[in-house]
Amino acid sequence: MSVKVIMANVSGFCGGVKRALGLAYGACGRCPGRVYVAGELVHNREVMENVKAAGVKLLRDCDLEKITPEDTLLIRAHGCPRGQWVKFRKLFHTVIDGTCPHVGKVSKMVECESGKGRLIIIIGDKSHPEVQTLVSFAKGDRVYVINSEEELDHLPDSLDQVQVIAQSTIDESSFKSFANKISKIYPHAEIKNTICGSSRRRQRAVLNLKEEGAQAVVVAGGIHSNNTRTLAQIARKIGLPAFHVETATDLPIQKLKTFQVIGVIGGASTDEETTKQMVANLRALEN
Ligand code: SF4
Repeated sequence: MSVKVIMANVSGFCGGVKRALGLAYGACGRCPGRVYVAGELVHNREVMENVKAAGVKLLRDCDLEKITPEDTLLIRAHGCPRGQWVKFRKLFHTVIDGTCPHVGKVSKMVECESGKGRLIIIIGDKSHPEVQTLVSFAKGDRVYVINSEEELDHLPDSLDQVQVIAQSTIDESSFKSFANKISKIYPHAEIKNTICGSSRRRQRAVLNLKEEGAQAVVVAGGIHSNNTRTLAQIARKIGLPAFHVETATDLPIQKLKTFQVIGVIGGASTDEETTKQMVANLRALEN
């Protein structure tokens, strides 16, 4: 059976990841001491291997006693909770802020709006580093993270001053559905869709793949990457079998051979070359 492969019209690193990687490689070439990153710079195994090969080290607790004035710390694209910032500033002479500008902007918004006494509701995953960063910027304890219907029951009683925002990579249709439900609890809530432009474009690209006739979708990217997982969930939600794979060698060729039209899309932390390699491997089945 012949196979047609369609590559999504969005691919390669998003702006925030590109920027953080540029800062990491730049620091390795320039800084006299060791270059550390606080947590995985991006949730992508292949990319992290390259970053580590260039000389960036993952900061572990046991490294903290060995820090010298020459050493540098890089903050990853997801940002860094405020308490850790304070700790790192004391420890390191040089801290490079690799926080994605979008995450930085939303963090400032959380700080400002909670400072005015507003309750902040974040739709997202509370264990994700970006959400932990956003939570840490809220003044006082006026912040809730919602990821399920049940959690809506734990919101405080009716308030006028509420702002609802989103983790940058969540599914836009889930955000809208949660936002609607929250509007019923707090009719005056201000809803701010803070899903970033890159995530929105990729989510739309999955819908386009279906419109172009894809019968299944390959999503290229790190297994722990939230934006990549979201793309696979969206594909499944619209009825397309989705295969979330990290590298071209992981492609489940036998299963994919059963589809006549396959769409391929890469996540925001997936190198364009990885996605292109997957497309090339699948196109080899076309003949
Ligand atoms: S996915 Fe969006 S928020 Fe996250 S690093 Fe990329 S551009 Fe920034």
